[in-house]
Amino acid sequence: MDMTKLDVLVIGGGPGGTPAAMALAAEGRRVRLVEKGTGLGGTCLFEGCIPSKILHESARRLLAIRSAAEFGLRVPAGEIGIDWNAIMERKATILNRRAEGALQRARRIPSLSVQFGNVTLLGPHLARIIPHDGKPEDVEFSNAIIATGSVPNLLPITGGDLPQVITSEQLLEIEHLPKHLVVIGAGPIGVEMAQIFAAFGTAVTLLEAGPRILAPVDEESAIALQTHVRRQGIVLELGAQVLRISGDGNGVRVEYRDAAGAQHTASAEYVLAATGRSPNVGSLGLEHTAVHFDRHGVKVDGKLETDEPGIYAAGDVVGQPMFAHWATAQALALAGHLLGRPTRFPEPATNSAVIFSIPELGIAGLTESEARRGRHTVGVARYDYHTDARAQVSGHADGLLKVIYDTTTRAVLGIHVLVEGAASLIGEGALAIRSGIPVEVLATAIHSHPTLNESMGAVAREIVASSRAAIRGARTHRATG
Ligand code: FAD
Repeated sequence: MDMTKLDVLVIGGGPGGTPAAMALAAEGRRVRLVEKGTGLGGTCLFEGCIPSKILHESARRLLAIRSAAEFGLRVPAGEIGIDWNAIMERKATILNRRAEGALQRARRIPSLSVQFGNVTLLGPHLARIIPHDGKPEDVEFSNAIIATGSVPNLLPITGGDLPQVITSEQLLEIEHLPKHLVVIGAGPIGVEMAQIFAAFGTAVTLLEAGPRILAPVDEESAIALQTHVRRQGIVLELGAQVLRISGDGNGVRVEYRDAAGAQHTASAEYVLAATGRSPNVGSLGLEHTAVHFDRHGVKVDGKLETDEPGIYAAGDVVGQPMFAHWATAQALALAGHLLGRPTRFPEPATNSAVIFSIPELGIAGLTESEARRGRHTVGVARYDYHTDARAQVSGHADGLLKVIYDTTTRAVLGIHVLVEGAASLIGEGALAIRSGIPVEVLATAIHSHPTLNESMGAVAREIVASSRAAIRGARTHRATG
């Protein structure tokens, strides 16, 4: 029997694989999308973005109810009940609906075939598909896209393999709310989980080896968030070195040394290991190809092509930044490139992201220190939400907007916004940075009142006004000097 010949084999049905498969097939390419799990959506849908945001939403609503009196609303006295099973059922319903929708959309494209099973590469243009139901099949492909995502790092310490030491995936599936939780690692996942569970009433200790939370994030914004984390009652230890974890009845004891060298013990029902994620390349058969990888990810060039011509990679498997929208941006660019279109591949300097902390932290473009390391003459402007109408109305006025711009080209380089609602606000920042608009344009864009978006215009007008004042000052100085 003839072997199946594909234009493109896509390995992995997450945000880095599915959009590429659909875009290529929509243009008539013969595409096979193979996913190891049982649905399309990847880590993002089943274990990451969506389940964590479902819990985040419940946690925020709980906090809103607790602060109802501030808004003149009287809720019955006493503890507000949390129906954990109902939250979990809501999560399952949304996840199933989204997975079903994704599969239906994919199945509507005639030249796209979706298969659930494992893929192993047998050579540069040959792969074996082992479906969950059915016989193994060898396929030939012109191009392949590796989009197999990432896996959580294990804790390389004594006790790191205890059953109470869990990953974010396990925590998002937990059957009851833990009374005590130790989170190791204050990256985006660690911070989000710590704040969500603290809002639900879990006593949380957050241990971070570095000098501050969220290492890659703009320092000032991350430090401002630390205040909110501590105000929430989370015990945050920076510069903490975890020494060992040991069993303690049904729970665990985490021994760690603080930044000053003093030894402490934190008891918990569970420990969340949130010390980062590594590329998922196991059992892919990369040894049968020239594809190279290291612990940071599969090695690719600027067009996401691996060292094996014709084999590409996208998403978490390529390394940082590990975000769903970044994976999708890469996937779509790659599809355009394989369709022969002139393509601009995503660049970290124009990426945006949201840390779903409490309050949310929206990020677009460069941090202040990245901008200063680059070839820019850097200006920084800040906006305090205490003076903002919308923030006052919503009761979340404790926030900071920071705009980093080039004082010569006037281009906006980075926007960092820590305020409840930042997730919706940051899109404007992403657009401003991607299109290279000068601060003068941001200053004259008409933002509706009263919205948080007004802060973008206000801070830009501050920049314009202070630049004019500086020019006037220089002229006066020259005239009088
Ligand atoms: P994945 O989504 O991991 O998809 C890879 C797929 O490949 C998987 O479905 C896997 O089963 C499949 N696969 C692996 N090996 C094989 C094989 N051999 N054969 C076939 N299939 C295979 N990002 C955001 O942007 N926003 C968020 O709010 C956010 N929250 C997160 C919260 C948590 C707790 C976590 C863990 C992650 C979060 N992320 C978030 C990150 C986001 O989930 C990832 O960046 C995104 O899923 C990466 O997409 P991907 O397609 O590269 O990989």
